Amino acid sequence: MTPDDSPRTWSAQELDVERPDAAEYRDLTADLRSRVDGRVAFDEYARVLYATDGSIYGAQPAGVVFPTDTGDVRAAVEVATDHGVPVLPRGTGSSLAGQTVGPGCVVLDVSRHMDDVLDVNPDAERARVQPGVVQDDLDDRLAEHGLKFAPDPASSNRATVGGGIGNNSTGAHSVRYGITDAYTEAVTAVLSDGSVIEAREVVLDSPEWDDLVSGDGREAEIYRTVRAVVEDNADEIEARYPDLKRCVSGYNLDRVVYENDAGERVLNLAKLFVGAEGTLGVVVEAELSLVTVPEETALALYCFEDLVDAMRMVPVALEYEPSAVELMDDEVFRLAAESDGYAEYVDPIPDGAEAALMLEFDSELRDDFERAVAETNDRFLDDGPAFDVVEAYDEAAQADLWKLRKAAIPLLMSLDGDPKPYPFIEDATVPPEELAEYVQKFEGVLEDHDTSAAYFAHAGSGTLHIRPILNLKEEAGVEALHSITEDVTDLVLDHHGSFSGEHGDGMARTEFNPKMYGEDLWRAFKEVKTAFDPEWWMHPGNVVYRDSAADVGPDAERGVGADNRDHLRYGADYESVEPQTALDFADDGGFSELVELCNGCGTCRQTGSDVMCPTYRASEEEVQTTRGRANMLRAAISGDLPEEELHSERFQSEVLDLCVGCKGCASDCPTGVDMAKLKAEAKHQHHQREGATLRERLFANIDAASKLGSALAPLSNWATEIPGARRVLQSVFGIAPERDLPPFRRETLRDWFDARGGAAVPEADADRRVILFPDTYTNYSYPAAGKAAVRTLEAAGVHVAIPDDVAPSGRAAFSTGMLDAAGERARANVDQFAPRVDDGWDVVFVEPSDAVMVQDEYRDLLGDGARAADGGTPAVERVADSAYGVCEYLDAFRLDDALPVPDRSPGAAGALSYHGHCNQKATNKDHHAVGVLRRVGYDVDPLDTTCCGMAGSFGYHDEHYDLSQAIAGRLFERVDDSDADRVVAPGGSCRSQLRDRDGADDLPPHPIEAVAERLDD
Ligand SMILES: Cc1cc2nc3c(=O)[nH]c(=O)nc-3n(C[C@H](O)[C@H](O)[C@H](O)COP(=O)(O)OP(=O)(O)OC[C@H]3O[C@@H](n4cnc5c(N)ncnc54)[C@H](O)[C@@H]3O)c2cc1C
Ligand code: SF4
Ligand code: SF4
Repeated sequence: MTPDDSPRTWSAQELDVERPDAAEYRDLTADLRSRVDGRVAFDEYARVLYATDGSIYGAQPAGVVFPTDTGDVRAAVEVATDHGVPVLPRGTGSSLAGQTVGPGCVVLDVSRHMDDVLDVNPDAERARVQPGVVQDDLDDRLAEHGLKFAPDPASSNRATVGGGIGNNSTGAHSVRYGITDAYTEAVTAVLSDGSVIEAREVVLDSPEWDDLVSGDGREAEIYRTVRAVVEDNADEIEARYPDLKRCVSGYNLDRVVYENDAGERVLNLAKLFVGAEGTLGVVVEAELSLVTVPEETALALYCFEDLVDAMRMVPVALEYEPSAVELMDDEVFRLAAESDGYAEYVDPIPDGAEAALMLEFDSELRDDFERAVAETNDRFLDDGPAFDVVEAYDEAAQADLWKLRKAAIPLLMSLDGDPKPYPFIEDATVPPEELAEYVQKFEGVLEDHDTSAAYFAHAGSGTLHIRPILNLKEEAGVEALHSITEDVTDLVLDHHGSFSGEHGDGMARTEFNPKMYGEDLWRAFKEVKTAFDPEWWMHPGNVVYRDSAADVGPDAERGVGADNRDHLRYGADYESVEPQTALDFADDGGFSELVELCNGCGTCRQTGSDVMCPTYRASEEEVQTTRGRANMLRAAISGDLPEEELHSERFQSEVLDLCVGCKGCASDCPTGVDMAKLKAEAKHQHHQREGATLRERLFANIDAASKLGSALAPLSNWATEIPGARRVLQSVFGIAPERDLPPFRRETLRDWFDARGGAAVPEADADRRVILFPDTYTNYSYPAAGKAAVRTLEAAGVHVAIPDDVAPSGRAAFSTGMLDAAGERARANVDQFAPRVDDGWDVVFVEPSDAVMVQDEYRDLLGDGARAADGGTPAVERVADSAYGVCEYLDAFRLDDALPVPDRSPGAAGALSYHGHCNQKATNKDHHAVGVLRRVGYDVDPLDTTCCGMAGSFGYHDEHYDLSQAIAGRLFERVDDSDADRVVAPGGSCRSQLRDRDGADDLPPHPIEAVAERLDD
C-alpha cells in the first residue's frame, strides 16, 4: 500500500520529541534527506530497533531509510555507497540466521511503503508485487481467484515476499511445491551502483543474449560472469549441490541456467537473487507464478514408540503423494500438555508416542482421502512400526493438529531461564532416506555437548528443526554454539545434505559455506558477488565473506560472517540490570527475563487476525510493535542506551505511552511477552522518580471524579458543553477536544438498586449468590448495562448484591502505572470479597477490563506478600478464581438455560455483530458472550477485531487521539462490512469509540442488554 492510499494517518514522528542523528553519520543523513522522499532515521532509537531480527544476533546499523519507491531505493544506495557505508535491504526482519543484522549498514526497510500488489493475472497465474507485501496479504488478494503463492513459511502472517525471496523461503508444503526460487519468474532490482536490472529468462545465445552481454556496463559483466562461472564449474556444481527439495545455502548456481518449458536453454538472474539475502541488490519488484488452492485436505498422523522408526517411514510416506509430511516428537507433546494454551491439542495423541509423522493429502493429488489413508494405514500400521493413527477429515480437526505442530517453536522458546533452544543449525537438511541414521548420529552430537533438543518439522523434505539448548550468556555456551555447528555440518556433509534447508546463511552459517561447497565454488560465489557488487557494498558478510587479501571492499567489514560467534545479541559479556519491582514478576523469572523473552520472531507485526499489536497495525512503525518496545526496554536495562534514557521524555512518550495496554501480546506473542505488565511497571518506576502528570492523576482517580460528576449532574454534563470548556480540558488535562466525555447520571446503578429495594431474588431462595461489582463507568455513566445484568441474573434465579463499600477496581490506576494506588485498591477489594467468596459467593463484572483486572492483574499486584500472609490458597487467588464477566458467568454455569426466552431458534432475535474486549480476548474469555447471545436467539457475527483504540483513557488523550482513531479504523471497517443489524460490545470505552464512528447514531449496547431484551419478548 502506498502512503497515498493508506487509511492510516498516524506516525510516531508526529510526537514532539527530539530525534538527533548519530553524530558520525551527520553528512550521510543530510545527503540522504536531500535525495530520498521517504523517512531517514539515524537516531539512537532507530539503530536499536533495527539491530536485531528473529535470530540470536544483534549489531547496530548506521541508520534506517524507508524508501517510498524505486527512485528512493536508487538514491539511498547511491548516497550510502558514496559515503562508504554498506546497504542492507530488510522486510519484516523475521530471519532466524541473522541475515537482517548489518553492523554499520544503511538498512532499507521496504516493508513500510513498498508493499503493493501491482498486478494479478489469474489466467496466466502470475502476480507482480512490490517486495514489502506480506505473504498472507498477497494470498488474501489471490483467494478470490482460487490462487495462492505456494511457498508457505510458518511466518507468512508478517513475512514479506521480498524477505522470502531474500531467504528462498518455504514451508510445510515444500514436499508438494518446492521453494521460492521455483515461483520467482523475474525481478527488478537496484544494484550497488544505483542502476536497475530487469532479471528474467534470457535464452542463451539468442539475439537478446548477444545484446545483453555486449558492452562494458555492469549488466553485461554480470551476465558474462554468471554464465562463465556456471559453465566453468559445471562438474563441481553437479557434485557439490545436494539433491534435495530444499537447499538454501550459498548462491543458486545450480538453478540459474536451465531448460525452460519451450525446451530452450536459458539463464535467469532472478533465480540468483532468490536466496542471495540482499547481497546482490535490492529487489524492488517481483513477478511471481502462482498455484491453485486445493479444495480439500485430510490428515493422517501416525504415532511411533521410537523416533528413528518414524524417520525410517519418511521415504515410505513419500510414495503416497502427500502434500506435507511433518514430524513432532514427545518433547513437543510434553510441553504442549503442560501448557495452558496448547494442552487441548495434544489430547488426541495416544500415550507412549515418542514421535508422530503427520501426512497431509490434498484433493489435487489424491481424489479419495479415505482410500489414501487406508493405503498408508496398511503400510504404517499393519506392515510398519506405527502403533496408532489419528485421522482428521474435517477442517476443525485438521486445524487443531496443525496448531499442535506449529506450537513447537513457541513452546520451546518459552522455557524458563537463560538456557534456551537457539536456532543456528536448526534447518540442516538431508535426503529423507538418510534421516534415520542422521537423527541417531545427531543425538550423539548433542550428548557429546551435554545438551538436548526437540525434533520436529518438515521430515518429508528432510528438514528437521533441531535447536540445541544452550546458555549463550556464558562463554561455554558460546563455544558450544560453534563446536556443535562444526560437528553437525560434518554430519550433514556425510549425509549428502545442506547446512540450511530453509532459513538461509546469515551470520549463523555463512562461515560454513566454504566447507559445504569447496574451494572452487567458494571462489565462484565471490566472483558472482563481485560481478554484481564490485566493492561488496551490499550486505557484506552474508553468503560470502572476505577471507583473502585479494578480496575487495571496506576493511572494517573484512571477515564479517567468518565466525558464527561474532555479533551475538546475548554473549558472555551481556549484562542487564534487574530493577526492584512493585509488581510480582516471580512467575516470569523477573522483569529482565520477561523483556528478554522477546526473540524477535516478528509475530507482533502480523497483519491478519488476533489482537496483537494494534499500535503497529495503525502506524506500521517498528517502535510500535511489542518487539520494538521489548528491544527498547532491553537496551535500557542492558546499557545499550544510557542509564537515564528510560526516564527521558522520548522514551516515555514514544515507547511506553503509545502501548495501549490491551494485553494482546500476553496471549498472542508466542513466548508471552506481556508488554502491558512491563509498561505498567516501567511507568511506575518513572512516577517514583518524576511524579505523575495531572492527567494521569485525574484518570487514576476517575472514580472519585465520576462520583462528584454524578452528584452534580446534570450541571456537570452541561459544564463540559459550555463554549470554551473543551479547550480548557485540552489545555489543563490534555483531553482531546474531539471527544465527548461520558455523561454522568444523577441516579447511579447503586441508587437504582437501593431504590428498588435491593435484590429481587432472596438469598434463601437462590442457588447462586453474586456481588455485582459497581464499576465506575457502569455505576456513574451507564447504569443501563448494570440494570440489564441484575435483571438477567435474577431471571436466572441468582441472588444479587451491590455493596456500597467496594473500592474501584484499580484498573485506571494500573493503566497509568500508578501501582501504589492500584495495589491499595486491589488489597481493599480482596479483603472485602474474600470472606464472601469463601462463603460461596461469586464476584461478577459488567465491565470486562475490571473483570480481568481482578482475574489477572490482582495476582501481579498482590503477589507473594498475599501468599505468605494467607498460607494455603492466597486470598487474591481465591477472589480471582471467583471473579467473572457477566456473560462469562452465565455461560460458565449455563445460567442462560434458565432464562425465560420465548424463541431460542437461531436468528429469532435478529443478527448482532460482536466486538469483544481486548483484555478478555487476551485471557481467552471472549467466547462466552457469543455463546450466550446465540443461545438466546441471536445470529452472532464475532468480528475479527483488535483493540478499539480507546483502551480506557488512551483515546481521550489529546496527543493520542489520531492514533486512537487510526486503530479504530479496522474495527469500523469490520462493523461496516458485517451483515448484522447492530453491533454489541461489552467494553464501555469500545462502545464510546463505536458511537463516534461515521454513521453511528447512538451508543451501542452491552451484550447483557441484548440478552435482557430477550426477557421482555
Ligand atoms: C517463528 C518463525 C518461523 C519461521 N518459519 C519459517 C518457515 O517455515 N520457512 C521459512 O522459509 N522461513 C521461516 N522463518 C524465517 C523467516 O520468517 C522467513 O525466511 C521469511 O520469509 C523472511 O521474511 P522477512 O520479511 O522477515 O524477511 P527479512 O528477515 O526482513 O529479510 C530476509 C532476507 O531477505 C533480504 N531482503 C529483504 N528484502 C529484500 C529486498 N527487497 N531485496 C533483496 N533482499 C531483501 C534481507 O536482506 C535478508 O537477507 C521463520 C521465522 C520465524 C521467526
Ligand atoms: S514480542 Fe513476541 S511476537 Fe513480538 S517479536 Fe518478540 S517474541 Fe515475537
Ligand atoms: S499491550 Fe497491546 S499495544 Fe501494548 S505492546 Fe502489547 S499488543 Fe501492543
